[in-house]
Amino acid sequence: MERADVVVIGGGPAGSSLAAGLRGSGLRVVILDRARFPRDKMCAGWVTPPVFECLGIEPEEYGQGRVLQPIHGFRVGVLGGRQSATSSEDVVSYGIRRCEFDTALLERSGAEVREGEPLRSLERTPLGLRVNGAIEASLVVGAGGHFCPIARRLMLGPKSEEPLIAAQEVEFRLDPAQARACPVAPETPHIAFLRDLKGYGWVFRKGDYLNVGLGRQDRANLSGHLADFLAELRREGRLPPDLPDGFRGHAYLLYDQAPRRLFDEGLALVGDAAGLAYPRSGEGIRPAVESGLLLARVLRDAPGDKLGAPEMLAAYERALLGRLGPRQHRPGVTDRLPGPLVRFLAARLLGHPRVARDVVVRRWFLHAGVPALGGGGEVPALAETPSGH
Ligand SMILES: Cc1cc2nc3c(=O)[nH]c(=O)nc-3n(C[C@H](O)[C@H](O)[C@H](O)COP(=O)(O)OP(=O)(O)OC[C@H]3O[C@@H](n4cnc5c(N)ncnc54)[C@H](O)[C@@H]3O)c2cc1C
Repeated sequence: MERADVVVIGGGPAGSSLAAGLRGSGLRVVILDRARFPRDKMCAGWVTPPVFECLGIEPEEYGQGRVLQPIHGFRVGVLGGRQSATSSEDVVSYGIRRCEFDTALLERSGAEVREGEPLRSLERTPLGLRVNGAIEASLVVGAGGHFCPIARRLMLGPKSEEPLIAAQEVEFRLDPAQARACPVAPETPHIAFLRDLKGYGWVFRKGDYLNVGLGRQDRANLSGHLADFLAELRREGRLPPDLPDGFRGHAYLLYDQAPRRLFDEGLALVGDAAGLAYPRSGEGIRPAVESGLLLARVLRDAPGDKLGAPEMLAAYERALLGRLGPRQHRPGVTDRLPGPLVRFLAARLLGHPRVARDVVVRRWFLHAGVPALGGGGEVPALAETPSGH
């Protein structure tokens, strides 16, 4: 029987960051992913600078041979209402393609990666946990995204009642004629809140790629909301005329409403498996990366025979709650006001230049004032990474 200290189910940003944080610790870390990399992940691919910072990656270095779109501001408003564009001399965010980003992170993580290998079975044994009947581990970490099989064991209620964000998007390469005609400024993604503020749509150009999508708290009539959004974009002339079909759907949970436990004996969750996306923006890559690094910190300090012990994993939970705040839904003003009033105020306020800049962009989307998590771990520069994935 093969033995590992930590088996990670899923090699997305959460799983690879955990492995990167454990690099040099002496622990044997094995990542299983059902996909083969480079694999795509439905995502707008908008990444805030602290993600690169906490991983110790220089954006310029990352951008060599990969799409890295600097963002200097956002165009913000309510669907059909007033809009305003914010702008900064500094780069406030980046656009990446997940097939490239996730592969780069996984390659530099230093973990043994088994691609094309899904979790098939998990049994408790006297020595810990047995994965796929073949690997015994002290700790198994669920990093398999929203539908992670480990997360299913740690749900607090029925799956059907989870308050998820349902999303649909398409990402495609613009051909030269489309690229010339594309009216979306790459450095200024467009964000349009739905009138009831239960979600937003986006148009985001990353180099020669265009990503269009919409996410919403209430999954009823998602396609209808998407159709309204696209119709509005066409009216405003913001879409290339031949937008392809092929919108795909996915889901995730917001941190303040995710009814999932973060650990059980021998098991822990990171990233979307734990439901960590920021409530206002839905940004999930940063909390996924941070959760992986925080768990790694705790495991580095853990005695070898305590890796999966509840007291160690409780320390991870404390660290994560300390970082992201209490895990409870705090109703905002919009939850207390009647729907028509919310729509009336939203249409006027969110596109106001000051509200757009200081509240929507700086506070909700960029988390300005929340510095990068310190300590990217002992990870090599991207250039040193041996290829092979
Ligand atoms: C439409 C949409 C747009 C989004 N846009 C943004 C954005 O612009 N910026 C942002 O920060 N966040 C965005 N998010 C959220 C972001 O995509 C996620 O929060 C992020 O991918 C979480 O990373 P993760 O590593 O936890 O999971 P994932 O990235 O989902 O990775 C999970 C990995 O686990 C593997 N896996 C799954 N099941 C198994 C299994 N049974 N066995 C083995 N392996 C398995 C998968 O193959 C995958 O590689 C968006 C989400 C959606 C749906």
